[in-house]
Amino acid sequence: MLVSLEQNAKPIRMLNTKIMKLTYQPYQLNLKYPFTIAHYSRTHTPLILLQIEHEGITGFGEASMVPYMGENFETASIFLKKVDVSWLKFPLNFDEVITYLDCITPGHPAIKAAIDIALHDLEGKIFAIPCYKSFGSQSDKMPVTSITIGMDTPQVIVQKVLEAKQCKILKVKLGGQNDKALIETIRSISNLPLYVDANQGWTHLEKSLDFIYWLKEQGVLLIEQPMPKNDITSNSWLTENSPIPIIGDEAVQRLGDVSKASGVYHGINIKLMKSAGMHEAHQMILKARDLNLKVLIGCMSETSCATLASAALAPLCDWADLDGPFLTKNNPYGDPMFRSGKWVLTDDPGLGLVKKA
Ligand code: MG
Repeated sequence: MLVSLEQNAKPIRMLNTKIMKLTYQPYQLNLKYPFTIAHYSRTHTPLILLQIEHEGITGFGEASMVPYMGENFETASIFLKKVDVSWLKFPLNFDEVITYLDCITPGHPAIKAAIDIALHDLEGKIFAIPCYKSFGSQSDKMPVTSITIGMDTPQVIVQKVLEAKQCKILKVKLGGQNDKALIETIRSISNLPLYVDANQGWTHLEKSLDFIYWLKEQGVLLIEQPMPKNDITSNSWLTENSPIPIIGDEAVQRLGDVSKASGVYHGINIKLMKSAGMHEAHQMILKARDLNLKVLIGCMSETSCATLASAALAPLCDWADLDGPFLTKNNPYGDPMFRSGKWVLTDDPGLGLVKKA
């Protein structure tokens, strides 16, 4: 759904004014370049920007509803009409919160994430604690974040790489017809380490393994979702034979999927818009550690709000791919601090989200 900036700025609905107030607005987040992966392309992403207010303090949340995940403004509005936040008490029990949201209806992880993120921000502000500290994250353990270089013509790929100067790792989307040429184009102008995301786009097992060995020589550090998510046999075989880590993304959505990834992948890609927010993402990290799985924390097209929510958990992960603010044109919030290729966590209470300068 397309909405104007004027519409974006105006809360369209207010829910449950008794104790907490929940308001939300649709927002169209525009991408700097069309986002293209193996079977798909788009120029913008529909968001819900959501606020929960309690006694004059406001927590901010966000749902990024990429079309292939099935959520949109209409599904989010229908869901939010069923949400009652008046029973919530501080300190919040996030197990209860997520159980409540899941009981309303299954699925809809992005709009559930918006509520979860806003409640974490709100609770952090009420108790004057930065969100990252409440998860036991250490700000000095922040991993460098990669920036995604989407599929494009060689000329535009070169331009994107040159524009990505602030990042120390590039993530390359493969799974098209010219994967090797695309890597060679990047290597002609950059020696930065690479992550590869095939987005389920590879189909031939032995050819894929040969290609992975070649990618290793090119400085690729990990590969996301090489084969279709339902092809467990092929993904397991690649994991067993690959010289670099194979990471499940589309195959891993919520907590229940983590144990299924064990033996099939070396690690998992956790995203707040899949996990229904920060609380379950944190549980997924803990579960992955129990199972000796590596953890990449990733994102959809997101503003500073969801980026900071993910960054609060990133020090607990092995790798970060949190590039939303770099790839979008109309982030409604101030950019978080970014230094030496890493997001900087501040000691502001809650998420540390700031207004646009
Ligand atoms: Mg991916």
